[in-house]
Amino acid sequence: MSLYQTQKLKVYNSLSGEKEVFEPLSEGHVGMYVCGPTVYSNVHLGNCRTFMSFDMIFRYLKHLGYKVRYVRNITDAGHLENDAEDGEDKIAKKARLEQLEPMEVVQQYTLDFHSILQKFNLLPPSIEPTATGHIIEQIEIIKNILEKGYAYEINGSVYFDVEKFNKTNEYGKLSGRKLEDMIANTRELAAQDEKKSPQDFALWKKAEAQHIMRWPSPWGDGFPGWHLECTAMSTKYLGETFDIHGGGMDLKFPHHECEIAQAEACNGHAPVKYWLHANMLTLNGKKMAKSTGNNILPNEMFSGENEILSKPYTPSVVRFFMMQAHYTSILDLSDEALAASEKGFQKLMDAIDSMENLTTSPSSSFNLEEWKQKGYDAMNDDFNTPMLTANLFEAVKRINLIKEGKETITEKDKELFIESMHNFVFDILGLENQNSALLNSDKLSSVVGLLIQLRNEARANKDFSTSDKIRDQLAGMGIQLNDGKDGTTFSLS
Ligand SMILES: [Zn+2]
Repeated sequence: MSLYQTQKLKVYNSLSGEKEVFEPLSEGHVGMYVCGPTVYSNVHLGNCRTFMSFDMIFRYLKHLGYKVRYVRNITDAGHLENDAEDGEDKIAKKARLEQLEPMEVVQQYTLDFHSILQKFNLLPPSIEPTATGHIIEQIEIIKNILEKGYAYEINGSVYFDVEKFNKTNEYGKLSGRKLEDMIANTRELAAQDEKKSPQDFALWKKAEAQHIMRWPSPWGDGFPGWHLECTAMSTKYLGETFDIHGGGMDLKFPHHECEIAQAEACNGHAPVKYWLHANMLTLNGKKMAKSTGNNILPNEMFSGENEILSKPYTPSVVRFFMMQAHYTSILDLSDEALAASEKGFQKLMDAIDSMENLTTSPSSSFNLEEWKQKGYDAMNDDFNTPMLTANLFEAVKRINLIKEGKETITEKDKELFIESMHNFVFDILGLENQNSALLNSDKLSSVVGLLIQLRNEARANKDFSTSDKIRDQLAGMGIQLNDGKDGTTFSLS
């Protein structure tokens, strides 16, 4: 029996505005799509929070025993400046300014994105498709929407007809907007605007002569509108209807609203069962923005090379800090908050490291199953990681009381306790124990390897004072040498 059959997960669906029991379309399987980054600059810390939130969700679903297909795209074309309908492509602009090929820009920032996410210990998605790799699929969707009568072509561009769509469907239902209000609040169309209505959005844009990222289509050379790629890729890999669509709160409108409209126009039914949105990250109480200087890059946090924080913080501490807030709440990053998380993180890791050595007794003085279920209850309540971390600190308290002889634990419970802590802390929250990370570091392995070799040479020469000195001094640094029949290995104590 899988865990998902006993643990009843509820998720907050942005579409209904309610917490709903999570029941995937096909038992035991989950399809999840998350809007990925536009790769034209270093990944923003706020975006890292969004992707980390969905990584935690991905991890929990997998932990429950679901087979999850997680698709997160890379936007490498079609996203115009200011998320607008007109203007320069973000990637093409960067390429022009830095005199690079657009695909050089894409490559550079895709690598940056992956390297940062890896430092934060995010699992790779099952599929990571790109917009430029799915131009044909996007053209097919436009043809389909044109055939159904929800789009019109003008001067080599194709626009989605929002008013027509709204007659039979409900445009604005995800973001809680009404088309009438949107129309009342918009200025008149500019004279040069070729759209029928300001609410209409581009499915295909004609490429002007200077536009370098262009593809042939039935409507002439051009490029796809930004909202279209997600509909094309989610449909291709997850089907016309899938379980979870996620992204940052700022994507609700217009991006996700347009995705719904495109899919409904195409297929006649809703594309997504549960819409999940992660909230934003602020810095010292203010919105993060490059232009105001109230901004910090992930690598600047890890190295300490920044003007905002007093010292460096490891990726795991930053991850722990983010996991201490609920993914739907705004989270404020500050030196104080990070320092507090760092202390808590160290306490948690120390407690975990000491669990193996806990003395066991014939009976346990507390109910371990109850504690464990509290952890699952937290996660089942729309992935309530702050509630889960509170329960983890409850465990730290217990561990210390056992050490002081004020609580007792049986051998069996101890094993279960260690296993559950590992599940919650490492598998679900995705934290990494820095002690064990150090153990796996190549540099440390080669340095200790060299010392082991010198010690072996000293022993071969019967220079036992040197060989003992190496062993003892390493032990003093917390590095234990273990002599076995296959040679010497080391562990951290
Ligand atoms: Zn998207």
